[in-house]
Amino acid sequence: MDHFTYKNNQLYCEDLPVADIAAAVGTPAYIYSKATLLHHYHQIANAFAPLNATICYSIKSCGNLHILKLLASQGSGFDVTSGGELCRALAAGGDPRKIIYAGVGKTDAEIADAINAGIAAFNIESEAEIENIDRIAASLGKTAIGAIRINPDVDAKTHRYTNTGKKETKFGVDIERAERVFEQSRSLKNLRLAGVHIHLGSPVFGVEPYVQAVQKVTALIDRLTQRGHRIEWFDLGGGFAANYEEPHQAVPIIEHANALIPLLENKPYKIALEPGRYISANAAILLTRVLYRKTGGSKRFVIIDAAMNDLIRPMLYGSFHFIWPTNPDPANVPLRRDKSLTPANGEVVDVVGPICESGDFLARNRLLPTTQRNDLLAVFSAGAYCFAMSSNYNNRPRVPEVLVDGNQYRIIRRRETYEDLLTHERI
Ligand SMILES: *Cc1c(COP(=O)(O)O)cnc(C)c1O
Repeated sequence: MDHFTYKNNQLYCEDLPVADIAAAVGTPAYIYSKATLLHHYHQIANAFAPLNATICYSIKSCGNLHILKLLASQGSGFDVTSGGELCRALAAGGDPRKIIYAGVGKTDAEIADAINAGIAAFNIESEAEIENIDRIAASLGKTAIGAIRINPDVDAKTHRYTNTGKKETKFGVDIERAERVFEQSRSLKNLRLAGVHIHLGSPVFGVEPYVQAVQKVTALIDRLTQRGHRIEWFDLGGGFAANYEEPHQAVPIIEHANALIPLLENKPYKIALEPGRYISANAAILLTRVLYRKTGGSKRFVIIDAAMNDLIRPMLYGSFHFIWPTNPDPANVPLRRDKSLTPANGEVVDVVGPICESGDFLARNRLLPTTQRNDLLAVFSAGAYCFAMSSNYNNRPRVPEVLVDGNQYRIIRRRETYEDLLTHERI
């Protein structure tokens, strides 16, 4: 469910025609729907309410300050993966006691900043990191709190670049070694290991990988408890898929909850979740304009003003984003965002950007309604890992982020200028 819908043959974000926003702020632009963002936050929070789970929104999926502030106001905590994200979480008014810090390569300075900020916990990925956090906490005269990220050796069946819960990946401590790691950490003076953490990868489309991992890890926690370790929380990570296309390819979040709650209720430890894309992915579109059309060999190209620097997921992971004109003719209004939708008057095209790389595409061999120069296109499900991964490649200023609330919009990140592009450099 989201609030990007066609009414009278034009695409609205909540109560505003997106074409009006394009006229006001230009293109390309990311357009967020506040209602959609909050809907997904509450949907996951409610689904896991029987476990009283703490939601720590994954900032790396979409870290705009205003968006973080909105989520913090709903009670969300944050999952951060760098010193920069920690700074962002705090700047947005995030409660440090609900911030957890993950990542395989935390630097000494990042660790010290996080301890000083009073974050809830580190999700720790190796024995070497345990020693280092203990040492840094000692030097600050403080006690840090940590969870061990367990690699449960479960195949999340997602893209090989984002599969993180298998043994061969760089993430976490092998489940067989976990007990030894807890044993060895007993004597630490400035780091208290009190949690376990998993994150299988993303997006995970099925329930089964979570069920398998939770079964393995709850058994591990039982063994740890028998050995006298007090485990206070189990963090299930994120990765819950969003709907990138319809009919729905992602399992509804309530089905995840229904499968996991029986395995986790009445446990003496708390549950945390780190959803990113589930909350943010469907909350935005990228609005872009058709610049030119051309043919090359047997191919037709629609050249748009957005590019791989604005949205890299198709190039990086082969991801699918539904794309459709914002003002289609009446015969071409999509009822569903279906990969195999057959428009009247359609054509098969590559949707490509202006960048000097053959990988600069948002869609390939896609059947779309025939478009003309200056037509507006919407790239859907663009709220997660889209603006967040954008860059200035080819010296393209990054595009604005706009948030719609009912019939109002506000610019929550302005378009970068050429001056912005030069500002960090010295001649
Ligand atoms: C990326 C990441 C998440 C969020 O993943 P989503 O697919 O956006 O839900 C959560 N936890 C950790 C440790 C991550 O690296």
